[in-house]
Amino acid sequence: MLLERSISGPIHRPVGGLGLANWPEVILGLVYPQVCAICHQQRADRDQGYVCTACQGGVRRITEPYCQRCGMPFSGKIIGSQTCTACRRDSWAWDEARAAAIAEGITLECIHRLKYQKEPWFGTFLSGLLMEAALPRLIGPPWQGVVPVPLHRVKQREREFNQAERLAAPLAHALGVPLRTDLVRRREATSSQTSLSRKDRIGNMRTAFEPAGSPRIHGSWILVDDVLTTGATADGVAAVLKNLGAERVVVWAVARAILEIDLQPARQT
Ligand SMILES: [Zn+2]
Ligand SMILES: [Zn+2]
Repeated sequence: MLLERSISGPIHRPVGGLGLANWPEVILGLVYPQVCAICHQQRADRDQGYVCTACQGGVRRITEPYCQRCGMPFSGKIIGSQTCTACRRDSWAWDEARAAAIAEGITLECIHRLKYQKEPWFGTFLSGLLMEAALPRLIGPPWQGVVPVPLHRVKQREREFNQAERLAAPLAHALGVPLRTDLVRRREATSSQTSLSRKDRIGNMRTAFEPAGSPRIHGSWILVDDVLTTGATADGVAAVLKNLGAERVVVWAVARAILEIDLQPARQT
């Protein structure tokens, strides 16, 4: 049933658990219909991650003005450099965080379908989004490497892959720097944090990661995750990297959740 090619006929999707995450995408390109995996109407090819141009138009990219620290977009016109309320209240182990798009609609659907339904073509689409936003800002300073936010090994075994690693690998390749998955590991399979307060969530993530060995590192590093919510998860990983010797950690995520509390910049005092 994988050989369905007609773009007008029914689309038979592989049911989860087939381990498709490990299939080379070139094979997918041969066996998968050249049709958009979102709308199932328009033509879309492997290079587009099977998301057609029209559906890609639904992605809301983050543009300035945004918080100079965490990248949270501000509504309206902001003059000069501003930081948001959260960044003036919390101190983060990472130096700067940015995201390509707002975590909503098609962007979020693609992330969920990559993570939970193991539809690997969305990795191509999402890493493309990430690189479109990140590469122009990352060209220049020497980066020591790219670190994906690690999953706990049990969760990774269940999911069969780490989506952050899937997104980080093309970025590392484009920058010509190593992808490092050997520096930080997740100490525990952190359960849902939604019931925790913001402060507890940050404290919880500070203990969720540990060095994977005892390598010493130096210089500037890029940390990659799929979605940036409070910044607490990235903070936990960045804290480990800083303890290992990193001088600067910049976070890049495909998408960023918008928190109502942070929509307005704090006034400079
Ligand atoms: Zn479409
Ligand atoms: Zn901020």
